[in-house]
Amino acid sequence: MSASAPARGQHETIFALATAPGRAGVAVIRVSGPRADDALQALTRQKLPAERNAALRTVFDLSNDTAIDVALVLRFVSPRSYTGENVVEVQSHGGPAVVASLLGALGALPGLRLAEPGEFTRRAVENGRLDLTQAEAIADLVAAETESQRRQALRQFEGRLGQVYEDWRGRLIRAAAWVEAAIDFPDEEIPTDAVQRSRQAISDLAAEIRVHLNDGRRGEILRDGLQVAVIGAPNAGKSSLVNALARRDVAIVSPLPGTTRDVIEVRLDLKGYPVVLADTAGLRAPEGSIEEEGIRRARARAEAADLRLIVRDGSEWGGDEAVLEGSPSDLVVWNKADLAPTRSMPGLWISAKTGEGLPELIEQLAARAEVGMDQGEAPVLTRARHRQALELAVESLDKAKVAKAPELTAEYLRQALREIARTTGRVDLDELLDVVFRDFCLGK
Ligand code: GDP
Repeated sequence: MSASAPARGQHETIFALATAPGRAGVAVIRVSGPRADDALQALTRQKLPAERNAALRTVFDLSNDTAIDVALVLRFVSPRSYTGENVVEVQSHGGPAVVASLLGALGALPGLRLAEPGEFTRRAVENGRLDLTQAEAIADLVAAETESQRRQALRQFEGRLGQVYEDWRGRLIRAAAWVEAAIDFPDEEIPTDAVQRSRQAISDLAAEIRVHLNDGRRGEILRDGLQVAVIGAPNAGKSSLVNALARRDVAIVSPLPGTTRDVIEVRLDLKGYPVVLADTAGLRAPEGSIEEEGIRRARARAEAADLRLIVRDGSEWGGDEAVLEGSPSDLVVWNKADLAPTRSMPGLWISAKTGEGLPELIEQLAARAEVGMDQGEAPVLTRARHRQALELAVESLDKAKVAKAPELTAEYLRQALREIARTTGRVDLDELLDVVFRDFCLGK
């Protein structure tokens, strides 16, 4: 499917522990490549089970002729496997010594080597089992910490994002083919409105890609978590609040101003939505140079955040007003409600100490997250990589639209095509010519 050269060692047989290292009930070791069956046959000294039938086998250490473990062996025959190659999965007891011995026994066999990170999935892409968006979705599924992240990753794994990009690629190939044909075969009976039709198709496509790009970064925010910068004057109680929300000790809580010198992140799962709280250094006039650096980072962080949570000291308000320029989208809380004699200021009153108001704050944060990540039915853009490629594609399409010479239009379309193809990894430009010949039946 891909015009790129096969990766180094494509035909080597690779193996790796697929489950997390450490103690577990079961560990799964995956072997993929032409020698996968031979390897297991050698280590089990028995005929292997039929394809997709699990069977118990004793696995031997051939160096000293002793048994390592009794394990389930499961075969997948090429091309009906995860990688598209012959795959054997060994499900052993999940102890570190068992796993180490099994990996050692596999590594001692000729033609086998330990897989590099992501190599099984890479082979799946190279063998056309998955497109790049699906491979990325697998990484996202493994990394998903909340329900909403899991759902988005699964949708992408099911191929819906890839289908959108493939549809665009197909339409662009057809549009480009008309232009290329007009150049290459000027004397043929190519419909005179071919170039005009192609321009219309290019316009429509550029508009559609723009809509997809202008999604308020929903997919990316969901993948990375809603970035919330917790800001406020020193001693307002930012660290205490972050701690209270995370219910674990991550930031230093101290009565001395300016102790939170760096940016500390806490990842939270708020009603299924991922939220990353960044506890920043207190914004105030710097004294030491380390603190100055902390303040610089705090400002940068606050500017880049999706949401700013401004913590104000409710027990003695007034001191921090000069430092903070609030914006209407900021979430403001008045902390130390337990010490406040009156609550005349509008906004949410909380206490990091007693926990008062925290359920309401979590409610509000989750509501903001939901608004920022809410997704309709259309698959959303999830990675900066896609965004970059599609932005370049739209640029090229815009140039193609206004280019006077067909040769120039064709060149811009090829550029756009290359960028769109990057999203799914299908980068074969020969398809262009295939379409030229198939659609026009030039008979030459
Ligand atoms: P930061 O500089 O904004 O991160 O503030 P800290 O979290 O370090 O808190 C400064 C001081 O205020 C510490 O002594 C905390 O124990 C105290 N503090 C924080 N939140 C509350 C609160 O809600 N009530 C009371 N009574 N004290 C608090």
